[in-house]
Amino acid sequence: MRFFADELEKWREKQLLRRLPDMEPRGPVEALVEEKPCLLFCTNDYLGLTHHPLVLERSREALAAYGTGAGASRLVSGNFSLHQRLEEATARFKETEAALMFSSGFLTNLAVLTALIQQEDFVAADRLNHASLLDACRTVRATFRVYPHGDLDVLEKLLRRGKDARRRWIVTDGVFSMDGDIAPLVDLSRLAREHDAEIIVDDAHGTGVLGPRGKGVSALFPDLPKKPWIIGTYSKALAAQGGFFAGPRLVVEYLIQKARPLIYSTAPAPAVVGAALGALEVLESDPTPLKCLRENVRRLRKGLEKIGRVVSSQCDVPIFPLIFGETEEALKASRKLYEEGFFVPAIRPPTVPQGSARLRVTVSAAHSFEHIDRLLDALRRL
Ligand SMILES: *Cc1c(COP(=O)(O)O)cnc(C)c1O
Repeated sequence: MRFFADELEKWREKQLLRRLPDMEPRGPVEALVEEKPCLLFCTNDYLGLTHHPLVLERSREALAAYGTGAGASRLVSGNFSLHQRLEEATARFKETEAALMFSSGFLTNLAVLTALIQQEDFVAADRLNHASLLDACRTVRATFRVYPHGDLDVLEKLLRRGKDARRRWIVTDGVFSMDGDIAPLVDLSRLAREHDAEIIVDDAHGTGVLGPRGKGVSALFPDLPKKPWIIGTYSKALAAQGGFFAGPRLVVEYLIQKARPLIYSTAPAPAVVGAALGALEVLESDPTPLKCLRENVRRLRKGLEKIGRVVSSQCDVPIFPLIFGETEEALKASRKLYEEGFFVPAIRPPTVPQGSARLRVTVSAAHSFEHIDRLLDALRRL
């Protein structure tokens, strides 16, 4: 016990101690945070669908028809027509042959990578990939190399060195979660083709957000030299929970045999599966949430630029990193905003590299222009 107490004390001294904030949601972008009414500029509910009438309705219908829990693994008795409907809808949405659902985006990365990548393989990953991708890469027994963020020269050298491996893999976030920049998919995909590698793209932040009807990051690049396999989550813009793989039917068939988090875990609960189906239905039938999101992204970007904040976020990405550098500065800014009724937690190492502590501001379709202007006002005074 002493060891744990000492470690906690060390983190406390470095201001790196994490705690779970006390939240009572009052809609997609409003909540009582530690009992104080706040506007949230940190949620990944980018389309504000967590409280959309159709999404709620589909979730309630699924709950009523299928019960509160799936009762067993998909391979035992938990594979309802509901799960299959969501997978079919996901494959249609992502324009792939097939899709397979898992309990979370984190588990999807772990499940897919550990099932597909083998000891004799070579895998290269961007240093700023999401923790779940990096953890999954460390878990597989293949030769694993990390390349500096977006560094195609290093990646190419690595791929050359991996030429004798049985198979090669490139693994990347589509939209990088803490910086909001988009992976150079055209170049990555060209390298994949030239070096006979597969490319897996984690589209957690592009799904529901980028491209026509929010089809995702790869919809921005329709003519890629090699088509990536997509991993995504239902838990962000799709307002539910769970993750998915979208790609060739044969690979889905293979994953059903090999993916341990699918085989040995209970199928996702009906209410969240219904919600995800509802969110896909909204994306198909109602352009308004996506249109609102894009207008809000534009307004926030313009406003940030006007107050002299360097904004590296691209086109329609709703993620804006405001880098403070020192942890203390980011924490101070976050506290000041909280005092003014905005909740934007500071993101500190090791979630982001040393010296790049930041506020990760995200905007949602559920914000009004007035919300955004008030935030900009508060940021100006920081
Ligand atoms: C959030 C996120 C995940 C994890 O998804 P969950 O459904 O929240 O478990 C995976 N990859 C990236 C890039 C993410 O941002």
